[in-house]
Amino acid sequence: MLFARSYRLLFILLFTSFIAPVWAKSSSQSMDDWFRNFKQTASPQALYQFLYQMPKGGDLHHHLSGSGYGKWWFELAADSEKNGGYSYYTRVKNNNCEPYGVNTFSINAVTFLFHTISQHTWSELSACRQQEYRALSQLNEAQIQGFIQSLELDKPYEGQDEFFERHWQRLNELIANPHIMANILLRNMQEYQQENLLYLETQQNLRFMKRPDGSFYSEDEALAIFTTMLSSAEAKLTGVTVKFQYALVRFTPNTDAQLKWIYAFVDNHRDYYVGINLVGREDDPKGHPLNFLSTLRSLRTRYPKINLAFHAGESVSPSENIRDTLLLGVDRIGHGINLLSDPDTYLLMRNNRYLIETNLISNFKLEYIQDFSQHPFPQYLRTGIPTALSTDDRGMWDARLTDEFYVAVTQFNLSWQELKLLSRNSLAFSFLAKDDKQRLLQTLEDNFDRFEQGYLNNTAQKKVISYSGFMCSYEPLLCAQGGQ
Ligand SMILES: [Zn+2]
Repeated sequence: MLFARSYRLLFILLFTSFIAPVWAKSSSQSMDDWFRNFKQTASPQALYQFLYQMPKGGDLHHHLSGSGYGKWWFELAADSEKNGGYSYYTRVKNNNCEPYGVNTFSINAVTFLFHTISQHTWSELSACRQQEYRALSQLNEAQIQGFIQSLELDKPYEGQDEFFERHWQRLNELIANPHIMANILLRNMQEYQQENLLYLETQQNLRFMKRPDGSFYSEDEALAIFTTMLSSAEAKLTGVTVKFQYALVRFTPNTDAQLKWIYAFVDNHRDYYVGINLVGREDDPKGHPLNFLSTLRSLRTRYPKINLAFHAGESVSPSENIRDTLLLGVDRIGHGINLLSDPDTYLLMRNNRYLIETNLISNFKLEYIQDFSQHPFPQYLRTGIPTALSTDDRGMWDARLTDEFYVAVTQFNLSWQELKLLSRNSLAFSFLAKDDKQRLLQTLEDNFDRFEQGYLNNTAQKKVISYSGFMCSYEPLLCAQGGQ
C-alpha cells in the first residue's frame, strides 16, 4: 500500500514535470504571437485594459509620501475623523509679514502658497502670519483645487525645482502624521490589488512623527500604527504584501549619525524593514555616494547584511555615481539614467546581479529626459541589464504602475516575454526573504497562466477603468472617449 502510494506519487511527479513545461511553452509561444498581433490592432482602451489586468510582481521604487494623489491628501488632511484627530491650515495668501533681512529660505518664512501646517504650529505664529493660513476644512472650491494641484506636476513649466523645492515643503507636517501615511499606504494597496500587483516595497521613515499637540511619537509607536493597519481586514483583503525601506536624505546634516541610527533600527525591525535607501537630488555635492563609504564599511562589521537600494545616476550629466554607489555595496540602483555615459560600469552591470529600478514617468516629469525615446531603458532591457518598472512618486504625476507599462509598450514595442521578464525581475530582485520570494514568484507564474488562458480563450473579464491625469495627457484618446 505504502509502496503503491509512493509509486503513484512518483508517477504524478514525473508526469507533471514532463508535461507542465511543454504545456507552458506552447501556451507562452501562442501568447507571444497573440500579443504581437494584439499590439498592432488594439485600441488605446483595449491595450490599457490588458496592461491594467496583466499580472504584476512588485513595485520596488516607491516613496510612500510621494504616492498620494492631491485629492487623497486633501480628503485626509481636511477631515479630522479620517486623519487621527488632527486639524491643518494651509497658506492661501501673502501678507508680507516678515521684516527686511530675514532668512527667506527658512521653512519658517515661506513665501509660497499651500504650505500646510498643523493647528499646533499655526497657534504659535504671529497674528499677521496666522491670517495667511486658512483651515483646510474652510477652503473654498478654488482653494481646494489650488491645494490639490499644488501637489502635482501638472503644468508644462513645473519640473525638478517645483518637485524638490516645493512639493515636499508644502506637505510638510502632513507626512509627519502616521495615521495619514498609513491610510495612504492602504489606498495604495487597494489600487495595486486592482492592477494585479503582488508586492510593494515602499520607503517610509518613522522618526519625528507628530501627535496633534506637536509632541513626537516614538518610532515603535509610529510603526505600530502602520502594522495595525497592515493586519486589518481591509489591508489583508488586498492580498498585497508590503515591506518597508528606511530612507536617508543624502544632503542633510549629520548623515553619518543618521545612517548609524537607521542601521540599528532596521536591524531591530527586520520583520517589516527589508532595506535602506539613499535619496535626494544628486546635483548637491554634499550627497556624493563616496561620502557614505567608510560609515557603511564600519556598520558592516557590526550587523548582519542589510540590503541597500540607493538612488544613483538620476542625472542628465555624465557621472560615475552609479559605479561609486555599487562600491558602497548596493544590490539595486534607483533610476540609473546616465549609466551609458560610464561604459566600464555598464559592462560590469550586464548579465550581473544588480537591478536598475526604472521610473519612466518620473524621469520625464522631472526633466531628466525631454522625450521618452531618449530613455536608456530599452538598452538595459535588451542587453542584459536587469531592470523593472516602478512608480517613484506617482501621486505627484497623477500616474499609476500600469501607466509605466503602457508607456513602455507604446514607446519601445515590448514583447510579451519582455513584459513577463519585467514582472519576474520585480520579485526576483526584491528584498523579500527567500521563502516569501519563492511563494510570490510561484503566484506570479500561476497568475500569468490564468491570464494567458483568459486572453487566448477570449474569456478574460474586463474591468471598468478610470484613467489617471498622466494618461489623459499622454494618450488623450483614452479620456476623450470617456473610458470604458
Ligand atoms: Zn525615488
